[in-house]
Amino acid sequence: MSWRDLRCGEPRPEDEGLTATLAGWAHRRRDHGGLVFIDLRDETGITQLVVNPEHAPAAAAVAHGVRNEYVLQTTGAIVRRAPATVNPNMATGEVELQVDTLRIISTAPPLPFQLDEENVDEALRQRYRWLDLRRDHMQRNIRIRAQLVRIIREEMEREGFVDIETPMLWKPTPEGARDFVVPSRLQKGRFYALPQSPQIAKQLLVTSGFERYYQIARCFRDEDPRADRLQELTQLDVEMAFPEREFIFGLMERIVQRIWRECIGVELATPFERLSYDEAMLRYGIDRPDRRFGLEIQEATADTRGSGFGVFEGAECVRYLAVPRELSRTEVQALENHARSWGAKGLAYIVFRSEGEISSPIAKFLDGELLERWRRPGHTLLFVADDQRLVAKVLGLLRLQLGRELELVDESRWDFLWIVDMPSAEFDEESGTWVAAHHPFTRPTDESIELFKRDPGAARAVAYDLVGNGLELAGGSFRIHEPELQAKVFEYLGSEPEEQREKFGFLLDALAMGAPPHGGIASGIDRLLMALLSEPRIRDTQAFPKNQVGFDYMTRAPIELTTEQLDELGLRVVVEEPADAAVTEL
Ligand code: ASP
Repeated sequence: MSWRDLRCGEPRPEDEGLTATLAGWAHRRRDHGGLVFIDLRDETGITQLVVNPEHAPAAAAVAHGVRNEYVLQTTGAIVRRAPATVNPNMATGEVELQVDTLRIISTAPPLPFQLDEENVDEALRQRYRWLDLRRDHMQRNIRIRAQLVRIIREEMEREGFVDIETPMLWKPTPEGARDFVVPSRLQKGRFYALPQSPQIAKQLLVTSGFERYYQIARCFRDEDPRADRLQELTQLDVEMAFPEREFIFGLMERIVQRIWRECIGVELATPFERLSYDEAMLRYGIDRPDRRFGLEIQEATADTRGSGFGVFEGAECVRYLAVPRELSRTEVQALENHARSWGAKGLAYIVFRSEGEISSPIAKFLDGELLERWRRPGHTLLFVADDQRLVAKVLGLLRLQLGRELELVDESRWDFLWIVDMPSAEFDEESGTWVAAHHPFTRPTDESIELFKRDPGAARAVAYDLVGNGLELAGGSFRIHEPELQAKVFEYLGSEPEEQREKFGFLLDALAMGAPPHGGIASGIDRLLMALLSEPRIRDTQAFPKNQVGFDYMTRAPIELTTEQLDELGLRVVVEEPADAAVTEL
């Protein structure tokens, strides 16, 4: 006998009188002493079962013992509900199943949380992920994820891209994070790295004559935890020979447009706008601006040069935000604390009250005519004076903070844009050196090749990012296909020829054997889904996530190895810090 002949979401009034067998989970049970109602759920929906002790005494005895999330099988007749009990919110709401037989197939203990419970602790949800995944919210996230990947595959295949897997056990590749390493038993003392992305592998593939490659690739980055970062992520990874930027932009736009249309019914206008990196930094202080609200950064350097106010006059750059509120002293103080934690020396302010009065400790130092020019009744101007980089950073972060706190973000809007003319290199405060802004295989623009050596900060790359609602949804570049230029760029980034050979000899050799011009892009699927579903927790875009520090509450990985395992690998563990009890004790 088969387990079922109808799914729980299927019964309709036309099925009246049909005898059907259903199987699924007990979603809810209402025991009225006499009649027992059970909502039986499977992935297609819910059917209400009615168990009448007079009609089916044996089934009624079973029904009294049913608890939430038991797995049941039942047979009975589909009957129409009385008009007063029709549930218009359920697809099956006009009918119910009059139970003849009821069988408990699996039981469950009292549950750690109910499926409809709100605000369940995230650790508890991850510990019992199989239960958590039964919730509507998670079912939706994971199913839409699959739909999104299907759309991506269809579009990529349509354009002739070939899906090619690349190794998981690989060599360290520089993508800006730390590597996860895997010890080799057969070659003791040696390690593989899990790929941070298939970057070099995909460049080798186009060099091998696979002119259009793609992969839904797993990437591993041992990053310090941040709300929208993952250590294990999936990306659409793309590379093509003889690349055209317009083709890559168009391809991504078609994919994103179809995803938004088919998954959530939103029609996005394409082509997406383009903004240069410099302009984004100037207006929004960040390279992934959220433009669903205004509050753009305003320039005040020239205006304040002759102002007589030392703090402004002495700074390389003075800019401000005109916040559409009369902020209180305490509110400004709180914002100033944030600004200081981001590196600002302070936060100067002017409140223009709607009645005309000005409250500001700095107004007395400023020229009356300038104040009049700035006057915006009902606004608070927040100023940062410092070097350009710091001013952009602090005002950019303040802008985002205020956008959230003052609820300025228009949540009904979708804002997509390309950031272009990206820098080649960025200064790394920690190491005090210039590092690749994207990765070291990114092509500098023709004009920037010489500039790279003299003034790395001014060199521009043929690189681009796709930003959606303030999230970086994709990033890519054209690559260096000439071995001499690649060696030169490595050198500019501080890598001597010997080190280059050791790390990237195979890439340099490949580039020297007939490498076509090539370029590509990669788009983080987890992050794309986060934007698509306005899902605040990136971990809820994956079926089995780990927590912020990479701990898996369900399997309890990572675990310690036995002495035998360690011996086999030729490893010895020196524990400096014991594992965090809060992490391991749930
Ligand atoms: N490999 C890059 C990344 O993972 C993307 C690219 O340049 O195609 O961000």
